[in-house]
Amino acid sequence: MTKQIYNFSEGSSQMSNLLGGKGANLAEMTRMGLPVPHGFTITTEACHEYQLRHNLSAELLQELDQALDSLSTVTGKKFGAAKDPLLVSVRSGAAISMPGMMDTILNIGLNDESVSILARLTGNERFAYDSYRRLLAMFGNVVFGLPETAFDQILTDIKKAKNYDSDLDLTIDDLKEIVSRFKEIYADSDQGEFPQDPKEQLLAAVNAVFDSWNNHRAQIYRQENHISEALGTAVNIQEMVFGNFGQDSGTGVAFTRNPSTGEAGLFGEYLINAQGEDVVAGIRTPQPVSVLQVSMPVLYAQLLDTAQKIEAHYRDMQDMEFTIEQGKMYLLQTRSGKRTPTAAVRIAVDMVQEGLLTKEDAILSVEAESIAKMLHPEFDPEDLKKHQVLTNGLPASPGAATGQVYFTSADAKKASDQGIKVVLVRSDTSPEDIEGMIASQAIVTSRGGMTSHAAVVARGMASTGVVGAHDLEVDYDSKTASVKGQVIHEGDWISVDGSSGNLYLGQIKSRDAVIRGELSQLLDWAKQTARMGVYTNADTPKDFQKALDFGADGIGLTRTEHMFFKSERLLQMRRLILAENKIDRQDPLSKLLAMQQGDFYEIYRLAAGKEVTIRLLDPPLHEFLPHDEKEIAAVSQQTGLSVEKLRARIESLKESNPMLGHRGDRLAVTFPDIYEMQVQAIMNAVLRLHDQGVNVNPHIMIPLTNSKAEMGWVRRLVVDKIEETMAKHKLSMTYTVGTMIETPRACVVADEIAEVSDFFSFGTNDLTQLTLAFSRDDVASFMSDYLKKGILPADPFQTVDTQGVGQLMKIAIDKGRRTKPNLDIGVCGEVGGDAASIDFFEKIGVSYVSCSPYRVPVARMAAAQAHIRNRTAKVALV
Ligand code: ADP
Ligand code: MG
Ligand code: MG
Repeated sequence: MTKQIYNFSEGSSQMSNLLGGKGANLAEMTRMGLPVPHGFTITTEACHEYQLRHNLSAELLQELDQALDSLSTVTGKKFGAAKDPLLVSVRSGAAISMPGMMDTILNIGLNDESVSILARLTGNERFAYDSYRRLLAMFGNVVFGLPETAFDQILTDIKKAKNYDSDLDLTIDDLKEIVSRFKEIYADSDQGEFPQDPKEQLLAAVNAVFDSWNNHRAQIYRQENHISEALGTAVNIQEMVFGNFGQDSGTGVAFTRNPSTGEAGLFGEYLINAQGEDVVAGIRTPQPVSVLQVSMPVLYAQLLDTAQKIEAHYRDMQDMEFTIEQGKMYLLQTRSGKRTPTAAVRIAVDMVQEGLLTKEDAILSVEAESIAKMLHPEFDPEDLKKHQVLTNGLPASPGAATGQVYFTSADAKKASDQGIKVVLVRSDTSPEDIEGMIASQAIVTSRGGMTSHAAVVARGMASTGVVGAHDLEVDYDSKTASVKGQVIHEGDWISVDGSSGNLYLGQIKSRDAVIRGELSQLLDWAKQTARMGVYTNADTPKDFQKALDFGADGIGLTRTEHMFFKSERLLQMRRLILAENKIDRQDPLSKLLAMQQGDFYEIYRLAAGKEVTIRLLDPPLHEFLPHDEKEIAAVSQQTGLSVEKLRARIESLKESNPMLGHRGDRLAVTFPDIYEMQVQAIMNAVLRLHDQGVNVNPHIMIPLTNSKAEMGWVRRLVVDKIEETMAKHKLSMTYTVGTMIETPRACVVADEIAEVSDFFSFGTNDLTQLTLAFSRDDVASFMSDYLKKGILPADPFQTVDTQGVGQLMKIAIDKGRRTKPNLDIGVCGEVGGDAASIDFFEKIGVSYVSCSPYRVPVARMAAAQAHIRNRTAKVALV
């Protein structure tokens, strides 16, 4: 028969599966020589057995007797004895902490006889009866299932009748009366009298704790937190120490550092003359532990010293429970303390400086994803409490923004030009809305998913975004939106929380975030540690600057199409698309050239030598064309084309599946002069900087190639233009021309494509869309069902689908590097900023990721963590 009970002196923190977290840490603290009341732990294995047989086995009962005997020996008291009785607590404790979910009973062993002996022995009658009434209430509730309120009511009634402020005012006689009235509750119930036999109390309590594993709230908690049903709970039986002994006693909770800010120093609360849960239950208002410094200085020093010891031992911030009995301190629990992201970062960095952690430990101790929460403006928590959630959608782009509602891009732009803070609210957005989006504090849509146009653009611009707010109905005609009958008019104030997806009516104060101090330090360490580079997707100098502030290594993707949506450019772009021949295309092309070279110049200048990868035009041309009648009329005027001709041209450009249509480098195959113009713009910017003594090495990226023949053809076009310019200006420089890998075919023939490509960059948005046949603009309608029903483990547009898309990537990397062993391979889709995906990319040998500016620090942490975790696994084991 395996051992089912471990003395605290036998266990350790390594044994939490067997002893539960609480038991393992009580054992660990005992081994450290800290003042832990004696006790032992019944294992989680015994719990399994109990769940099968529904009673305690004979072997377990025997072990329990032995354990109680040795507890008597060490404490000098005897459980169940009439003189100097041993009292114990029976405490639940699962392997993974489930705070407040299961039960604990204190003061077991007291009965009508021993309560008076205890009173006499201690000379403290009040304390004895206070302990007894607590036992009666806890046991009644936990073991007999009597309602907690019945016990509470009696306390409340007596305090009210006697005009008492707190439990402390209760006299000995009051407590005796409470005890007898509590016993009446038992007598009136089906369960019968309170068991006077201490052994019977103890066994019933152990059974009840095992049963509490299956209580409703514990089950719900496990489901919510994905904790296995099979784990079971352990039971700790521990000698009681008494915080309710008098003014020199008390009980409290302390964190070894501030869990909200991370500041070093004890942080917590305690109550004088109290027991157990009084602190958390809010029966009286506790005092900050710092008060102990004055009221019990010796004890405070001891607590501080203990906190330091425990922290140094666990090398992590701890959350401790302690009790003081007659001026002596005991520790009753310790566990890793929950903390805010800000605190986590500060604690990690401080602990390295204090020599408690290595830099790598510190990097691993902070959840990468949590960094994002530190970087966006956020609503002032106090002000937020005063507002009610109007409705919510998907948290597409984090941040907190307040502004006045406008429903069209043009109205938003106009209002913003007048200095109004704007929130653009639409059913969905198209690239045309970009100006309005730029002008807005936030974008809200009622349709679309996390990778819809609005979401991608909002993240790219680091603007706040909530998409797919289904309850929001937008009516463009009346310029109103409604949520279940509540109407929002143009100009109304609204507040948007892009981190939670919540929308609020009215204005809420927000506060801004920057990277400094400990976060900056931690990110530096992460940069030194990571193997993969972290670049940004940035389309404007403003985005790029933000990314540089956040530590980006350079630009992994500049989407040139976004540069065409400002109104003057859009006009030229439209003239270009509507032109019917090469001659007519020349004038708009030259105008676009002039504007684009200015953008490139700015970006290269900002980059100051850092790598910048520019992708040539990618989206279907019709995205640039007017859609409604009003716009068609306006464009007709601007371009001088008749409305009929315009309509016909728009009609001819219409595609049933634009994402599978005339886009990407297919545009270049049909209209080579567009890519030639873009390359010329790049070269002009390079030349201008060269004249200023700044060397630039362009990296040009071709979207959507499918084959060596296709990439080879486009590459020739690009290279010819570059070489021609270099020759003409006697410029010598290095440059690269690479391709996006974003179709399944490209992955499979990557060895051939690599022959004509200097680098690869996975466009995981398209690759995912094409591999799963999930249109990324339409997934919102079914994605949540797939996630809810567990058919997909995660949204593949947010976390790479390792088994499908990931395997295609692996094929492409292996094949590409067979052709060019040092081929530089990046990832520039949304998943490039996702921590779980980055771990996978480390394993398959990706060289760098590129993500939106606000994701850069998250990606940096994730890249460092992935490298530390996977370093030892030499070959990709995926
Ligand atoms: P939880 O898991 O809900 O925190 P615990 O088992 O930690 O429950 O018990 C709650 C509180 O009861 C402890 O923080 C402590 O104050 C008190 N307690 C438990 N065991 C003892 C004991 N042996 N002596 C004194 N107080 C105890
Ligand atoms: Mg506890
Ligand atoms: Mg793409």
